[in-house]
Amino acid sequence: MATNSERKVDDQAFVLPAAMIAGTTFNVPADSEVCTAICSAATGETIGWQEHATPEQVDRAVHAAHDALIAWRHTTPAARGKLLRKIAELLEADRARLSAMQMRVSGKPPFEAELDVSDAAATFNYYASLCEDASLFAAESVAVPDDALLAERVHEPVGVAALIVPWNFPMVTTAWKLAPALAAGCTVVIKPSELTSPIEHMLAGIVSEAGVPDGVVNVVNGGAEVGAWLTTHPLVDKISFTGSTASGRKVMQAAAQDMKRVTLELGGKSALIVREDADIAHAVTLATGGAFANAGQMCSATSRILVHDNVYRKFMAAFEAAVRSLIVAPPHGADAAMGPLISAAQRARVAALVAQGVEEGAQIAFAGELDPACEDGFFMAPLIIAEPAVDNVLWTDEVFGPVACVKSFRSDDEAISLANDTRYGLVATVVTNDENAARRYKAQLRAGLVWLNTPQLIFPQVCWGGFGLSGIGRELGVAGLRSYQELRHTVGLRA
Ligand code: NAD
Repeated sequence: MATNSERKVDDQAFVLPAAMIAGTTFNVPADSEVCTAICSAATGETIGWQEHATPEQVDRAVHAAHDALIAWRHTTPAARGKLLRKIAELLEADRARLSAMQMRVSGKPPFEAELDVSDAAATFNYYASLCEDASLFAAESVAVPDDALLAERVHEPVGVAALIVPWNFPMVTTAWKLAPALAAGCTVVIKPSELTSPIEHMLAGIVSEAGVPDGVVNVVNGGAEVGAWLTTHPLVDKISFTGSTASGRKVMQAAAQDMKRVTLELGGKSALIVREDADIAHAVTLATGGAFANAGQMCSATSRILVHDNVYRKFMAAFEAAVRSLIVAPPHGADAAMGPLISAAQRARVAALVAQGVEEGAQIAFAGELDPACEDGFFMAPLIIAEPAVDNVLWTDEVFGPVACVKSFRSDDEAISLANDTRYGLVATVVTNDENAARRYKAQLRAGLVWLNTPQLIFPQVCWGGFGLSGIGRELGVAGLRSYQELRHTVGLRA
């Protein structure tokens, strides 16, 4: 934290205002302690500054969303769909600028930064298509055992939604919330992560350029304190939160006061299972992507890799070779395959977990090395841990960094039991050529999404969310739309 007057602003640095409310930007007083630096994860340099919203500004943003609600909820779904299509079009048109900002802030390699733009645009297009399906918004009759009565149900927008997002896929996570919220007829206040807020500010600019009326989408900047003010504001009807399980608990507690609706997308500790019959080269490709994409900073990271004992050595040799060949580099380096962690604090957190795991007995099977080009950024070389104990911290806790644990198993029963031995339950991957075995894993793995022999494919049509500590509710799909709606029934005498 710094005071506004202490910050250094050079030609290259930007300053993000504390809030964008009903189309107007709001700054904070020059002498208040409300400013944090935004760093480039790839170089460690301060590239901009972000002002933190005050409680009054958060209140003003919620009121703006509340005031805009009556008009917005009464627009037709088709009209909202047109605006969502326009947002998708503008995102595609602005692909180069959006990807460049993601690379500049998060240090993501170009293909990952571009994929985020594609995923965000696909999400807006998908919810546009749901808006074009009038049956999803029309009153539906409900059969009741009395012909004299007419019963109907209708899906109403839930109201003002607070959208609180983390830093690992900022534009995508926000799109997953914003597109269904707008489709449903809700108005919103977005609270981006304090580490990656420039991305959401660009997105908010695009939303406004698309013609979404002022007040429907508002943004407040800041850290946990700003998020917490939103979760306790009496005019917020729904909170959609993505972040750590620890923060999710606090959000749920805060929401309980006013019975706010909650969707929580939290952490994970997911398994990738390699059966004896699997194509090992394919399994290695899936394991490498599952554990090291986005430098392992994925709630869906399959960081617990279970490999049948009979193919364990073969898998390990090929996996080490694949991870050794991953090019860890700044985004503008040639063929960068893995970028940095988001911050020095995140890197220190991951390093501390690794140190604890090693102290508890974890064996490092492979440790990558960093190129000198990485020395200024928050890079961390990939790490493979072999056969950790089931109570080792690296096996039990979400690391959120480039650390993969590999453990052998001898039977499907053992693999399923090890995979399910976690309080999380977000995703799982199974690699096998045996259809019967695949069916069994699909039925018995305790996870919100199971991939069979595929990379981590995510489509807006397929819901996202997990069991247990991985959260409550589902995003994407029709369920994602319904999570921004209340169900109202009417029962009356037929005319
Ligand atoms: P975090 O919980 O620290 O913060 C997430 C967001 O919530 C940030 O905007 C933060 O400012 C805000 N926040 C923090 N405490 C809050 C509180 N008490 N009240 C309101 N807002 C609060 O998480 P992070 O470090 O930014 O992100 C990493 C975590 O996110 C990981 O645990 C990861 O698994 C999880 N994640 C989950 C998914 C999913 O879909 N399940 C997706 C991405 C990330």
